Amino acid sequence: MFKIAVIPGDGIGTEVTSQAVRILRKASQILNEQFEFTELKAGGIAIDTFGKPLPEDTLKAALASDAVLLGAVGGPKWDNLPYELKPEQALLGLRKGLELYANIRPAIMFQPLIETSSLKPEIVGGIDIVVVRELTGGIYFGRPAGILEEGGTRRGVNTMTYTVPEIERIAHTAFKLAKTRNKSRETGSRSAGRVTSVDKANILHTSMLWREVVNEIQKKNYPDIKLDHMYVDNASMQLIRNPKQFDVILTENMFGDILSDEASMLTGSIGMLPSASIGEKHALYEPVHGSAPDIAGKGLANPIASILSAAMLLEYSLKQKELARKIFRAVEVVLNEGYRTADIASQSKNVLSTEDMGRRIEAAL
Ligand code: NAD
Repeated sequence: MFKIAVIPGDGIGTEVTSQAVRILRKASQILNEQFEFTELKAGGIAIDTFGKPLPEDTLKAALASDAVLLGAVGGPKWDNLPYELKPEQALLGLRKGLELYANIRPAIMFQPLIETSSLKPEIVGGIDIVVVRELTGGIYFGRPAGILEEGGTRRGVNTMTYTVPEIERIAHTAFKLAKTRNKSRETGSRSAGRVTSVDKANILHTSMLWREVVNEIQKKNYPDIKLDHMYVDNASMQLIRNPKQFDVILTENMFGDILSDEASMLTGSIGMLPSASIGEKHALYEPVHGSAPDIAGKGLANPIASILSAAMLLEYSLKQKELARKIFRAVEVVLNEGYRTADIASQSKNVLSTEDMGRRIEAAL
């Protein structure tokens, strides 16, 4: 029995998550393994029901599960609440509580959607990149941090800091991932099984240590994986100039925040982008997009990002890489047949609702 905590959240979170659960139910049949789903509240709906964005019971149940599937949280109704009561605090609380230190975001170009990218088809065709971002260290969490009163003026301070163990564990995540891609990739990308570590080692001390540790880990443990290093300014340029040179990008928290958004937008629509956040013991899977209040409740949301997040759950938490790949292929089949949700449609025919897209993908699977 495999226990999945389902946190639909707010807005389109509920709509897309129910389609991802549909696919997970199908996966459970295919695998002949029982999945137990527990639905939990977090975000705006938890504020309305319990007065707080992340109730203790939600975190407790998430900790007791084998994996967490999240929709999205937030919306205008809760925008004016004080900082610590905002729905988005649920995300930070879950990341912290589940000790999720690695964020994994694939950027895969589905061939039928090549026209939706803002870059030329020959640049983005066939890209298959994964950004592995350190999630719990670096400048977002380093101390001291704050706005200080000093000598009659104010000074804003943040501290970028990394310890060797923090760098080691995220480096292991990236190399292990590159290893699995090396063995079984089918996309024909030119740079399979390769890690590009992105830093600013020409200036930042944290980056100098980062580079040193990543080199050591590779030499000692993953000599078969090719490693190169790139400064973050160059990496941001290369991602637009020649994205196919990348396979796995390994980077620290703030650089990864920016580069993962850049990489994912190569592929067009936000409704197509899944993510995984992984720790030693727990993992959380969610689409990259938010609760999209502008289209919530209308059946217009694209469920593919959430469905692909469910595929990542099967791959990383259940080690069912084959089945995960089948889900990717089912999505591709449906897109190849010409079906779209409104956000990725270039014409008005074959435009499906959220639920109909979920059903089509289930049928293709
Ligand atoms: P958003 O991602 O919700 O929406 C941005 C735009 O993309 C909107 O026009 C929306 O309609 C469209 N869009 C997003 N997902 C889509 C999908 N699956 N199918 C079709 N179209 C889609 O970002 P936002 O508007 O900046 O934020 C809305 C709310 O979501 C805010 O309260 C924000 O704080 C929250 N948010 C939550 C998360 C999260 O839960 N992880 C992430 C980002 C934003």
